[in-house]
Amino acid sequence: MVVRRGRLAFADERPYDRDSNGVLWTRTPSQPGKGRPEYGKIHPHRQRNAMEQLLCQVCGRPADRNQDGTLWLLGEDLQDPVIPTGQTGILTAHPPLCLPCAHTSVGACPHLRKQYVALRVRHTEHAGVRGALYRPAVPRPVAIDAVGIAFDDQLIHWVRAGQLLVRLTDYQPVELPE
Ligand SMILES: [Zn+2]
Repeated sequence: MVVRRGRLAFADERPYDRDSNGVLWTRTPSQPGKGRPEYGKIHPHRQRNAMEQLLCQVCGRPADRNQDGTLWLLGEDLQDPVIPTGQTGILTAHPPLCLPCAHTSVGACPHLRKQYVALRVRHTEHAGVRGALYRPAVPRPVAIDAVGIAFDDQLIHWVRAGQLLVRLTDYQPVELPE
């Protein structure tokens, strides 16, 4: 990590290391289909892509959708208000799900098994990122905290992002369909 033009950067940075907001993203090798799903531990680029395209967080196919919106599952601990704001809505780092994976997740994930809420979501906003916050230092910037940062916060230029945070703004609780 280096400081370039007053912000955190990779020494050998390439255009695709940043998103359209200019936020720097963690690099990870992409190996789709390899390994077992680790619930709660999501690949940064896959997580971001799933949020942006509303793809299932487990299998990567389009999330379940009907006239009431896209299917999301929230466990008690998945509702994660990491950005304190006066705004309404639910902030989450967890992308939506397809129906088969929703059923599998409820059975397989220890957190979801206890309690979950299924939502139909009509509208989402990209709120910010969760990642590692750095501060300038010699010889290299130093990671000082794991944070959630809104896109309009100046500290966003000092974060190496790992997850896109989305705010669900128009939603209704539903029964998980059979
Ligand atoms: Zn799926």
